[in-house]
Amino acid sequence: MNLDLIIIGGGPIGLACGLEAKKHGLNYVILEKGCLVNSLYRYPANMTFFSTSDRLEIGGVPFVSNNAKPTRPEALEYYRRVAFSYKLNIRLFEQVEAIERENGYSVRTLKGTYHAPRVIIATGFYDIPNLLNIPGEDLPKVTHYYQEPHFYAGMKVIVVGANNSSVDAALETYRKGAEVTMVIREGEIGRRVKYWVKPDIENRIAEGSIRAYFHSHLVAVRETEADIRTPDGLITIPNDFVVAATGYQPNFSFLEQAGITLSEDEKRYPTYDPDTQETNLPGLYLAGVVCGGMDTHVWFIENSRIHAEKIIGHILSQIQSA
Ligand SMILES: Cc1cc2nc3c(=O)[nH]c(=O)nc-3n(C[C@H](O)[C@H](O)[C@H](O)COP(=O)(O)OP(=O)(O)OC[C@H]3O[C@@H](n4cnc5c(N)ncnc54)[C@H](O)[C@@H]3O)c2cc1C
Repeated sequence: MNLDLIIIGGGPIGLACGLEAKKHGLNYVILEKGCLVNSLYRYPANMTFFSTSDRLEIGGVPFVSNNAKPTRPEALEYYRRVAFSYKLNIRLFEQVEAIERENGYSVRTLKGTYHAPRVIIATGFYDIPNLLNIPGEDLPKVTHYYQEPHFYAGMKVIVVGANNSSVDAALETYRKGAEVTMVIREGEIGRRVKYWVKPDIENRIAEGSIRAYFHSHLVAVRETEADIRTPDGLITIPNDFVVAATGYQPNFSFLEQAGITLSEDEKRYPTYDPDTQETNLPGLYLAGVVCGGMDTHVWFIENSRIHAEKIIGHILSQIQSA
């Protein structure tokens, strides 16, 4: 293949880059390690997006949903229809192992090596959870990827965290008959929790249907119980399952291996020009939520889909001036 561009990641933003490249006649390939929009596929089954569907659209293709805010199945349907209707050149289940800089870029996957003068990294942040680093976190009863509530019916569940994912998991499992205890570092439910969900969780906690320990930390998990450090001291409660909704982080070693420099503070912001999305390496671009470093609440689909136009615009201007 004589490629102008390799796009790594077949999430919404990788697809947006593919659409924009195709629109302008660039020869591109999208390499995706899992299924199409792999992160969205692994989101909780019943999830409703906080964005309205028009803000999740890519390539100007209308996204029609039953209600203003689409569900996960509607989003999967939309991105699938876009990818196949526009015949995007995408290779699924092909993980990129390394990016080498040699006469342009060589991108190595388990199935082969691709060469192109330019690469876009749109790998998101959903593959690496922020660990609690506590004893027992590796037990099979602990998950960082909550899927759906039926599994937890009749069981004692600890939900760690107070943001959207934790609150959705707590409410859903409670409503399917789980005995839910929330362990929350802060003193309140997160301010970013969807405005139509926040009163629900606050009222369930106030009435005692869901137990919540604020200013508290889960410190150990064992087969049948767990330890929580609360302002009143260490307590041990019986426990069957733990949903640790503690957020995720980009694959920093992948970015560093490619030669992208990261800020030295704890945020680990990758270096890129916000006008063009080009990194410290010429022809190597970042798109989507991977741009935010540890600040994973800065970039979303709705405000990073614009990266596609910026990058392809920059590539076209470079080609024209060459
Ligand atoms: C529960 C939840 C709800 C959200 N709700 C909203 C919302 O309502 N509105 C909104 O705008 N945003 C929302 N977000 C954020 C949004 O989903 C992400 O911003 C979005 O997925 C970002 O798209 P992306 O293409 O940058 O990354 P991703 O969708 O994560 O796509 C990255 C892709 O890269 C692939 N990949 C990773 N490494 C490799 C590799 N080495 N080789 C090949 N492929 C690789 C992954 O498999 C993945 O498919 C939500 C996030 C979560 C977790």
